[in-house]
Amino acid sequence: MFPTYAEFVLRADAVRAQVAAACAAAGRDPTTVELLAVTKTHPVAAADFAARYGLRAVGENRVQEAAEKRPLCAAPALAWELIGHLQSNKSKLAAQHFDRVQSVDSEKLLNHLDRAAAELGKVLPILFQVNAGNDPAKFGADLADTPRLVEFARTKKNLRLDGLMTIAPLGSTPAETAEHAVRTFTNLRTLRDDLAARLGVPLRELSMGMSSDLAPAIAAGSTQVRVGSALYGAR
Ligand SMILES: *Cc1c(COP(=O)(O)O)cnc(C)c1O
Repeated sequence: MFPTYAEFVLRADAVRAQVAAACAAAGRDPTTVELLAVTKTHPVAAADFAARYGLRAVGENRVQEAAEKRPLCAAPALAWELIGHLQSNKSKLAAQHFDRVQSVDSEKLLNHLDRAAAELGKVLPILFQVNAGNDPAKFGADLADTPRLVEFARTKKNLRLDGLMTIAPLGSTPAETAEHAVRTFTNLRTLRDDLAARLGVPLRELSMGMSSDLAPAIAAGSTQVRVGSALYGAR
């Protein structure tokens, strides 16, 4: 059942308490970890709730769904971020309807989005998605290809690379899933630190961690956790 706003507030407070606990355990300042509310498949009220609660942004998986919902949203200042796989033929639409695209993972997509942003006369913020857990079922660039692609991204005048994004693979047991999470998030953090030092750019944003794996992501340096089901219920 989709929550009422009062239920949403209780859940969001609980997620923020989890974030605060993970930050305390990692010796981090909780204000350095943003909560991105993942509103995919939910009615536009999900985005309205997020804005009313004071969140900066929501995450959506599909370009078309966001393009339909966004004009109905009562909060014009709310930012919308694309976190789902993007086909290059939807680049124009994505550059039009999103404030940031987190799922950029190829040279082709970099070229298409840069051209689309140029046509719209804007600079589009992006994250580069890395398959940091080497999951055969996941999108994202291979860890080994990422340095070259990040350097290429930085040559694109109408894109602004804010950092990296990843999704941890599921294991066949909870223990295996937990191991994958630690390995995936540590890989992304290490890669970011290496690239930042080598290229002399901060690549500040590390979008990693979801409802079920917030804590290991925060321990590894996440700056943004993407949370859907813990806020809005099962999809
Ligand atoms: C759906 C989704 C989330 C949110 O997952 P929950 O388990 O509902 O918190 C986060 N990141 C991405 C990329 C997603 O597609």
